[in-house]
Amino acid sequence: MAGAHTHGPTPQAGPAETVDTQVIVVGAGPAGLLLAGELALRGIQVTLLERRHGPDTASRASTLHARTMEVLDSRGLLADLGSPPCEVRGHFGGIPLDLTLPTPYPGQWKVAQTRTESVLEEWALGLGADLRCGHTLHTVDDRGSHVEAAATGRRGGRLTLRAAYLVACDGQDSTVRRLMGAAFPGTPAARELLRADVDGIDIPTRRFERLPGGFAVAARNPAGITRVMVHEFGAEVRQHAGNPHFEEIAAAWKRVTGEDITGGTPLWVNHFDDENRLLARYRHGRILFAGDAAHRQMPIGGQALNLALQDAHNLGFKLAAAVDGTAPAGLLDSYDSERRAVGAAVLANIRAQALLLLGGPEVEPLRTVLAELIAYDDVRTRLAAMISGLDIRYDVGGPEHPLGGARLPHLGLRVADIVCTTADLLRSGRGLLLGLGGPPPPLHAHLADRIDSVTAHPVHASPLAGTPAVLVRPDGHVVWTGGGDGEGLARAVARWFGSP
Ligand SMILES: Cc1cc2nc3c(=O)[nH]c(=O)nc-3n(C[C@H](O)[C@H](O)[C@H](O)COP(=O)(O)OP(=O)(O)OC[C@H]3O[C@@H](n4cnc5c(N)ncnc54)[C@H](O)[C@@H]3O)c2cc1C
Repeated sequence: MAGAHTHGPTPQAGPAETVDTQVIVVGAGPAGLLLAGELALRGIQVTLLERRHGPDTASRASTLHARTMEVLDSRGLLADLGSPPCEVRGHFGGIPLDLTLPTPYPGQWKVAQTRTESVLEEWALGLGADLRCGHTLHTVDDRGSHVEAAATGRRGGRLTLRAAYLVACDGQDSTVRRLMGAAFPGTPAARELLRADVDGIDIPTRRFERLPGGFAVAARNPAGITRVMVHEFGAEVRQHAGNPHFEEIAAAWKRVTGEDITGGTPLWVNHFDDENRLLARYRHGRILFAGDAAHRQMPIGGQALNLALQDAHNLGFKLAAAVDGTAPAGLLDSYDSERRAVGAAVLANIRAQALLLLGGPEVEPLRTVLAELIAYDDVRTRLAAMISGLDIRYDVGGPEHPLGGARLPHLGLRVADIVCTTADLLRSGRGLLLGLGGPPPPLHAHLADRIDSVTAHPVHASPLAGTPAVLVRPDGHVVWTGGGDGEGLARAVARWFGSP
């Protein structure tokens, strides 16, 4: 909303500093860090504001799905994650689901969120992003021609920032969303899960167990700490705000499982619920939203973190083009239409899973039917692709083609004498015009800084057989496939990369 003025509390007195930058990113969680790296990769000045004084050490998400792994591969970041364990056995609402799919990274990769964040932070800072920890944003103001923001820093210091754009990656209780009064429609919490890490108890392992009175999970880690998670069917959401007391969790655990864990020592207590909301608009003039700031969901199946990272990946190249003046009309708005549609689809599958997992005995017939259907490979692959993020197809226009709008499949290629993969060819952060088996059509020389033209030969049988060339956006999505249709290529280049 250009020209909207949104103000927070008056800043405290203290040393003042003014920063002129190109993009302000609020929040150095996974979304903010990946976005900052994507912008810095393209030479954009980016300042990240983070209210924490240091890294977040809290245990949160622990799963990276296949599409996120492909995205990290396309930025050369997988090696930094080490060798995380992977489990191809996933679930849909607690019903076992094999996640095997045609990708080099099928399944759930177990990476602690703290690790993902440290890898992304090192990458973004190495590319030149400016991270200001200990700075809490309290004011944001879209002036039409630019954005102004203010934050309070250490010892009450005041930081004023001016930039072309501001992106709110400030999480589920987003300050920017509140300051903007942005519409955030959805459904309030109706069910909640209580969690605790408990030392000194010895109870049986329970994997997604539905018992007569509720749902229970118990998993003991190598250090002997047991994580318990419990929901009582039909229980109301607790009325008091904040985390539950351990006594409440132990009482619910006793009612559902019959086991007494009151003798244990709680190391961490937590809860999450099924509140489900999606911003009505991801773009408000020069202010945009990504990650949990844009959508609120139950973290079932580990999709929340993956959704946040993929928002940032979609936005990065579009915002960079808007800042450096090369963006064609509509490019930045396509972030809203593309990612809001994906957000709505993921939130719908999460709602379905929450019902299947936490609904009472009345959902048993539905679970039985779904378990039967999942035995059919078409159903299994459809659900697995949905959870893994591999089913995403954007509306990119042009003639119908199975790859149009989908992500470029991962392929082994030979380029000159070098064997590489499609992910390697995306590492520059530019677009890719890939000729398969012969040179791609020529491009205007002035587009060379936006699109790499590469001739490659697939090393193995390829899902691209019969497709002589593809044009790929910097986020890995195919926007043109073909051979002789020079007009179609010119249209796709103009729509996604602008004029020379
Ligand atoms: C306890 C817990 C358990 C979770 N478990 C799971 C799980 O098992 N699986 C799963 O997929 N997801 C889980 N999640 C969700 C997952 O952590 C989020 O989806 C993910 O972190 C979203 O990333 P983000 O970058 O959008 O937001 P966040 O990670 O929330 O990052 C937002 C950042 O903005 C900063 N910030 C906020 N306000 C301001 C301000 N005014 N000024 C400056 N900085 C600000 C915050 O300090 C924070 O660092 C869990 C979350 C929590 C809290």
